[in-house]
Amino acid sequence: MTFAVEPAPIPTLPIAHSDSVFPVRRIFCVGRNYVAHAIEMGVVVDREAPFYFLKSAHHLVLAEGEVPMAPRTEDYHHEIELVVALGRGGRSIAQADALSHILGFAVGLDMTRRDLQGASKSKQRPWDTGKDVESSAICSPLKPVEKVPGMAAQGPIELRVNGLARQEGDVRDHVWSIEEIIADLSTLYTLQPGDLIFMGTPSGVAAVQAGDVLEGSIEGVGEFRVTMAPELA
Ligand code: MN
Repeated sequence: MTFAVEPAPIPTLPIAHSDSVFPVRRIFCVGRNYVAHAIEMGVVVDREAPFYFLKSAHHLVLAEGEVPMAPRTEDYHHEIELVVALGRGGRSIAQADALSHILGFAVGLDMTRRDLQGASKSKQRPWDTGKDVESSAICSPLKPVEKVPGMAAQGPIELRVNGLARQEGDVRDHVWSIEEIIADLSTLYTLQPGDLIFMGTPSGVAAVQAGDVLEGSIEGVGEFRVTMAPELA
């Protein structure tokens, strides 16, 4: 067999304290998972069920150095989030078993064309052009689960832009816990090793500009520093 075109490289994340890398399969994102962020978006949290959107795994970039701005937006927003990496898949995973499916954790940014997302919402259209943006899934190296004793159930999550605090929260304030999300998502999809889950953002989202320096951290999980670069030509 020969490929008609060059196959895309497998998206990967480094794993801290390891020579192996994590091959990324899908990127699931949880919507509205902090009450204060839902309020700033002018919506209420649906406590009946979580909801999701996806980003292409090919839109993953490592959170280091420069990352590009996106085209066709005047309102490109940062959303700092806990990222869960699955080492084992499954269907209809019980909440009690959910944490055993995790290989590691990371801290990431769900970059969002807020203007296009807002237009989609108002027209009841899909969010893809607002959310599934090239280079918009920014993620730190994974920290192996055995190095995260508290399983990222709590701890400050913070984003600073040009040295000023912009987003501050605690991952304990997730509306839907990691266990609840893995259990629910695994009834919609057969989860697979390599899947990432972005767990949703606390309040304080705002637009970035080329040249801005973004420093993010989740205590016990990781930290990063990136500079926004002009959009790719
Ligand atoms: Mn998000």
